[in-house]
Amino acid sequence: MNDSSHRKDLPRRDALKLLGTAAALGAASPLALGQAQQAAPAATGNTPGNAGGFYKFKLGDFTVTVLSDGQATGGTALPNWGANPDRQDVYAQTLRDNFLDPANFTNNFNPMLVDTGTQRVLIDTGRGGEQGQLTANLARAGYRPQDVTVVFLTHGHGDHIGGVTTAPGTLRYPNARLVMGEAEFGYWASQAQPNAAVQNNLIANRARFTLLGENAEIVPGLTTVPAYGHTPGQFAVLVRSGQSQMMHLADAGGHYILSLQYPEQYLGFDMDKPTAVATRARLFDRAATDRLMVVGYHFAWPGVGYVRRAGNAYQYVPGFVQL
Ligand SMILES: [Zn+2]
Repeated sequence: MNDSSHRKDLPRRDALKLLGTAAALGAASPLALGQAQQAAPAATGNTPGNAGGFYKFKLGDFTVTVLSDGQATGGTALPNWGANPDRQDVYAQTLRDNFLDPANFTNNFNPMLVDTGTQRVLIDTGRGGEQGQLTANLARAGYRPQDVTVVFLTHGHGDHIGGVTTAPGTLRYPNARLVMGEAEFGYWASQAQPNAAVQNNLIANRARFTLLGENAEIVPGLTTVPAYGHTPGQFAVLVRSGQSQMMHLADAGGHYILSLQYPEQYLGFDMDKPTAVATRARLFDRAATDRLMVVGYHFAWPGVGYVRRAGNAYQYVPGFVQL
């Protein structure tokens, strides 16, 4: 229906009518989109394509949108995504068994927006800079940066905090309260030589942050869940509305095949590997027991699914959800 050869011959008004609101919004510039949203419902279609997009669904009364910050291709899956030195051959074979090439890894970045009706909470901000696709996909999903009321950061790695600012001193989400775990913020802010992402996105904005402990309320319906090990103070996020609940696992999800299939598996960038392994087991066990929907930040797009037990380990089952 999006055939441009037809669209060109039509006056714009008729073209919009023909295409329908969702497609018309998808074609609009981010600025125009914000204005159009005043009068028209937000685009509801999911956006396919390798470049990412958005994936929107209802959770109780909430509207949840997984937003792609894009993909990064190139490089090998191992050892970073399964770092145990004595298991490299097993992991490589498992990847091949799952139709994945160990020599060509595609990484995904899956921040998530929760619209509770009164609050719009963005969980992680992507990489920022020229790589970051989050803001573009936020617009495609029908939201403007100024619509975000809370930015929650799961941990201090650059691919999660890089999009807090557009440039040093300029916040990308100007109306948002910044929220992060107290221990996590403290760890990164106390580095002797903080990297640029930490300096520009965390330390420079220290006065704007609300710092939380574990099992704390971010906004009504969203709670911090301890997910330590990948970094010292990482939090996953439990989202609850009515009888429905889900968990954004942040990087406690690890790799969507290897981290579930192998209980001993850890990532190269897990800072405290035994703790990261124990955290993964605890969160996967909870997800399986409670039949929780989960989102993995680096899982294959859109990273939405479920966890089930498989022998003494687990398996990720992609979910199919609807708005
Ligand atoms: Zn990450």
